[in-house]
Amino acid sequence: MIKLVRGFKDILPADTALWQHVEGVVRELLEDFGFAELRIPVLEQTELFARSIGAGTDIVEKEMYTFTDRGGASLSLRPEATASVVRAYVEHRMYAKDPVCKLYTIGPMFRRERPQRGRYRQFHQINAEIFGLHDPRTDAELILLLMTFFGRLELGSVALHINSLGCPECRPRFKDALKLFLAGRPEEFCSDCLRRKDENPLRLFDCKVPDCKEAMQEAPSILDDLCEACSTHFDDVKRSLDRFQIPYQINNRLVRGLDYYTRTTFEVLGESLGAQDAVAGGGRYDGLVKALGGPNEPGVGFAVGVDRLMELLAGRAQDFEKRPHIFVAAIGETAQDMAFEWVQGLRLQGVRTEMDFENRSLKSQMRRADKLGASYVVIVGDRELDEGVAIFRDMATKEQEQVVLQEVVGTAVDRIRTSTVGGES
Ligand code: ATP
Ligand code: MG
Repeated sequence: MIKLVRGFKDILPADTALWQHVEGVVRELLEDFGFAELRIPVLEQTELFARSIGAGTDIVEKEMYTFTDRGGASLSLRPEATASVVRAYVEHRMYAKDPVCKLYTIGPMFRRERPQRGRYRQFHQINAEIFGLHDPRTDAELILLLMTFFGRLELGSVALHINSLGCPECRPRFKDALKLFLAGRPEEFCSDCLRRKDENPLRLFDCKVPDCKEAMQEAPSILDDLCEACSTHFDDVKRSLDRFQIPYQINNRLVRGLDYYTRTTFEVLGESLGAQDAVAGGGRYDGLVKALGGPNEPGVGFAVGVDRLMELLAGRAQDFEKRPHIFVAAIGETAQDMAFEWVQGLRLQGVRTEMDFENRSLKSQMRRADKLGASYVVIVGDRELDEGVAIFRDMATKEQEQVVLQEVVGTAVDRIRTSTVGGES
């Protein structure tokens, strides 16, 4: 038997209803916040990721699925979405129409990491990006959107961490301070960290090796080195979060896996997730659009890790499973033909309806209706046909009533509409 590729997974029908629910909630919210959907390919020129994510990052150094295509081009499966979204913003000159542009995209990402709980080689993200706005309220607006989303999903306990990474003005000063700190303790770091410590010392905050994490606890804080503009920007973001009573923790160890981040960075942690606890991350990347050949427009965005989000929602899948509203149990050829017409009529009116084409016994059809979780069963056999009625059975209350054959479809539609008013069922 041929099996799944390691680190990849199937999302089975028992879970897809929950995925659809989550996507439905976030799409509605994103659109209320003024975002439009952008659909981008999963494959890009390798160069795009090398230039945007940064050559000295784990992602580019060792996690990308890169191959040479038959024409000789180096292509990579996208490890994240921001680079592609920026490419599209620049390539289609979206900025010329309106520099302020709010885009979202939902889809799979690919990273060849070590598979473990919360870490897959194909995983899914919801991405939101805002271009063209410097105002710190923009950063806060994205965080607000994210926390509202998690609130609507009734996610329970999550923690928001925020930090500022400064800008090209003040970050070099901090990098120097950091290099000085690192130079004094080479024995405490892993080989990757030692290799990156001069070129890209901020990366060391992102290392997952426990000893490196421990050693970095004593590193200087970037927040002490922010220039006045960055400091004011960060204060304004915090003030906006306070205004909407969004609790947050300042975490001066928080960096992002990409090199182009400036100023605000944030992460949302799910407390029950174990070692891979980040369920979303984001921040400002004011230099990226320009670096990818576009105008000097700022950007800010986030990515939600949907697979980890699903883990936080585990156990809720059956709440969203789509069960039939009506199961028609028909016995005998004539009744089956009539039932087939009802089924089609009901489906056309948006009523989820099932029947059994195999003409099994009433008992076995009732068992199937029960197993599928139908709300009502409509029973029709020879005796009912003679009397010109069908039996309506409410599967929750077990109450039964007779409905004349001509009114079966209308009655079923009415029942379902009244029982689903105010919510999906
Ligand atoms: P981590 O620190 O957990 O590796 P990251 O900083 O690499 O995360 P980002 O690039 O910020 O992750 O991606 C945003 C979100 O995507 C993460 O917060 C996480 O929820 C999710 N994510 C990242 N990598 C994976 C993966 N390999 N499998 C599942 N989800 C992932
Ligand atoms: Mg990672």
